[in-house]
Amino acid sequence: MSSSELTPESVPSTKGMPMLGLGTWENEDPDQCAESVRTALEMGYRHIDTAQAYGNEDAVGEGIAAADVDRADIFLATKVWISNLDYEDVLETTQESLDRLGTDYLDLLYVHWPSRTYEPEATLEAFDELYDEGTIRNIGVSNFEPRHIDAAREQLDAPIFANQVETHPMLQQTELRDYADEHDIEIVAYSPLARGDVFEMDVLSEIAEKHGVSEAQVSLAWLRANDVTAIPKATSEAHIRDNWESLSLELDEADLERISNVDRTRRKVDPGFAPW
Ligand code: NAP
Repeated sequence: MSSSELTPESVPSTKGMPMLGLGTWENEDPDQCAESVRTALEMGYRHIDTAQAYGNEDAVGEGIAAADVDRADIFLATKVWISNLDYEDVLETTQESLDRLGTDYLDLLYVHWPSRTYEPEATLEAFDELYDEGTIRNIGVSNFEPRHIDAAREQLDAPIFANQVETHPMLQQTELRDYADEHDIEIVAYSPLARGDVFEMDVLSEIAEKHGVSEAQVSLAWLRANDVTAIPKATSEAHIRDNWESLSLELDEADLERISNVDRTRRKVDPGFAPW
């Protein structure tokens, strides 16, 4: 398929979640952030990822309102920050997120990290309540290791839809991917371009040159071929489009194997409160 033929329907989806979305961390200038979201939606993106901690939920909401796309056609995800994970705070701050985003429901609400005020019983009771009343359509976790998911599954009545974790060719997360497969949980790759470091990988550059595309597209196509959803952050129209065009790129078996054999580990997001 050529890139000019790409439509929202060209994006594969897993259980209703489009496998390519727009990340918004550090897209902090409100006008710029709203413009990036509008541009992406009008290009065909239908999955937007934000978080309470990014300080841009109102700008994301403005971008959604400005785009000529129905809210019902958008898969919108946000995350509850680590200081807001007490039972009451989950309920209160989720309402605040909804108000900022200008919507009355979320397609996916994540626990951002299993850290600080996270306590499975109280936190997840609030998530179950939001799910039961229809305020959130799916429950997600982020930066969870298998042991955290095991404990969360014990606690929750609702299913865990997704685990959002850093995933790219230099952090392939095979253990987490296998665990997710076994438990019917989607993996959403954050920092799918390793925050720009994929551009320095010779293997990716060689494959990119062979196909006449960017390293970003190669990384995103490799994730997609491995059933992983990706949410690259891009600000400019050029980057948003480059990532969109990854949907036209089909890597061959040899390309996929070369990337899967990359023997280098680099984690880009590693705050002091991380559970590993
Ligand atoms: P990323 O998507 O791997 O990389 C973003 C960087 O790559 C930006 O500097 C961006 O520049 C640049 N870029 C994007 N597309 C490009 C292209 N086609 N060509 C060249 N450069 C390109 O990193 P990320 O922002 O860390 O991760 C993506 C999203 O995942 C975040 O925005 C956020 O929504 C989510 N996330 C979640 C967590 C979590 O704890 N759950 C942690 C980190 C990230 P421009 O901005 O200039 O376009």
